[in-house]
Amino acid sequence: MFKMLRINMSDLTVKSEDVPEDYKGLGGRGLTSAIVLKEVEPTCSPIGPNNKLIFAPGLLGGTNCANSGRISVGAKSPLTGTIKEANSGGQPGQYLAKLGVTAIVVEGMAKDNKLYKLFVGKDKFELSPADDLKGLGNYATVEKLKSEFGDKVGFATIGQAGEWKLTAASVAFTDRELRPTRHAARGGLGAVMGSKGLKAIIIDPAGGEQSPIADKEAFKEASKRFAKALKEHAVTGQGLPTYGTDVLINIINEAGGLPTRNFSSGRFETADKVGGETMNRITVERKGNPTHGCMTGCIIQCSGTYLDDKGEYLSKWPEYETIWAFGPNCEIDDLDAIARMDRACDDIGIDTIEIGNAVAVAMEGGVKEFGDTAGAEELVEEIRKGTPLGRILGSGAGLVGKAFGVRRVAVVKNQALPAYDPRAVKGVGVTYATSTMGADHTAGYAVTANIMKVGGDVDPLKPGGQVELSRNLQAATAAIDTAGLCLFVAFPVLDIPDAFNAIVDMLNAKYDLSLTGDDVGALGQKVLKMEREFNMMAGFTAADDRLPEFFTQEKLPPHNVVFDIPDEELDTVFNF
Ligand code: SF4
Repeated sequence: MFKMLRINMSDLTVKSEDVPEDYKGLGGRGLTSAIVLKEVEPTCSPIGPNNKLIFAPGLLGGTNCANSGRISVGAKSPLTGTIKEANSGGQPGQYLAKLGVTAIVVEGMAKDNKLYKLFVGKDKFELSPADDLKGLGNYATVEKLKSEFGDKVGFATIGQAGEWKLTAASVAFTDRELRPTRHAARGGLGAVMGSKGLKAIIIDPAGGEQSPIADKEAFKEASKRFAKALKEHAVTGQGLPTYGTDVLINIINEAGGLPTRNFSSGRFETADKVGGETMNRITVERKGNPTHGCMTGCIIQCSGTYLDDKGEYLSKWPEYETIWAFGPNCEIDDLDAIARMDRACDDIGIDTIEIGNAVAVAMEGGVKEFGDTAGAEELVEEIRKGTPLGRILGSGAGLVGKAFGVRRVAVVKNQALPAYDPRAVKGVGVTYATSTMGADHTAGYAVTANIMKVGGDVDPLKPGGQVELSRNLQAATAAIDTAGLCLFVAFPVLDIPDAFNAIVDMLNAKYDLSLTGDDVGALGQKVLKMEREFNMMAGFTAADDRLPEFFTQEKLPPHNVVFDIPDEELDTVFNF
């Protein structure tokens, strides 16, 4: 039943094959990274015919396990030059798994700048021309596709940024309402899709069925225990469903780790105006929905609906990282404006973390003033118009820093840092520096033990214990991404032993295995080793596993701390 689809964009052929032996037992990030390592030349051009773009649901995809429908997208990244995996919610992950598709591997490159769309249904796979979608944003693309394919399908699409191969371009996935609000955003994977001439994938789940399970009773019992843990934990049972990820604004601000005015302070004076409590209040006042799941089977439901002041749908609830990037980091405290920029980025198909950083660096470079809300919106619109300035912004914070002579540019391996200052949250600083993906909080979310005291208590301001914390979290995260679980399950997994045991039990029940908890941890380590092997062959060394110099020299108020974890310690993160 399980198959892998190979889509060759050079000769426009679609082949279905059995999953090769080498890839068996892998899903999600583990599978995308294994395929990139084995099949992609590490020194190839990321936007050339030799790169491959892979879509893969996780090992628990297509089942009734809560929060298990993520989809991983992998390739060599045009932004970082490293291996890349970014995963997303939305419906397509579950749909693919229920169709028995383990992975879609997109190879080659279309000729003459032509665009195509791929239909994936029950035993039907077809490429067809899509030049009528050229130049359209994700929202208009989805509307047009809906008129052709109906509303019982899921879409993966790119906007203008992907077509133009901007290095911050994302791949959009539709949510339950068929809105392109969920993104595999980081690392420019939309540019890889654009380079291949693939504008859209349509996934029709009709005729699909639940993924086969070897021991249904055991699976059901374990999935109930898992769901119970998600409901019981304060973060996944109360905080996220009520305030979304934006619950973090006031927490990180209080901790002095909320990067403000392009990483020049750790506190923002009016943070509360953009915090989760305020977003919840505005949403309730406008009769919107604060608690909403981005995909079927999500029982945490962190994604609300943001309405404008007339009560009309504007965007999904912007994530904490988006609100920070366009908010405190640009000295902006207007939630409506931030939601408009979130909507614009979803439509253009571009990473909000990268673009918020790019705007902040442009402000520091004198293009606009910090705090200029209308100016920030104008810069985002420059990207939509494809002007030379817009193309520079859409290529990320690193390029903007070079173009405007800015020294304080918060990137690692050319990928912009997310919403936690590494000087005041040092564990996540270790993750930013050493992740195989460039700066990425989701790769090893040490905010848990540093700030939230989930899964331990490691002082965020001191160097001790941070390397070990990041090491363990990076391995655990690679396993969670391979299972296809939403990363937010990590909160109960770190605090409630039975939540982790339930994941192990579900994997065993589904695949008729007898894995132990240690085996699942080892799976995460194996994925990291594969990714590091690719990066080394692409030319990366320990010298790339560092934060920008200013983090070790400029003291961050209010704690007046620098990032002070020695290089020799950073070099031991992957000693396992
Ligand atoms: S918890 Fe949030 S991000 Fe995760 S699946 Fe649910 S709505 Fe999506």
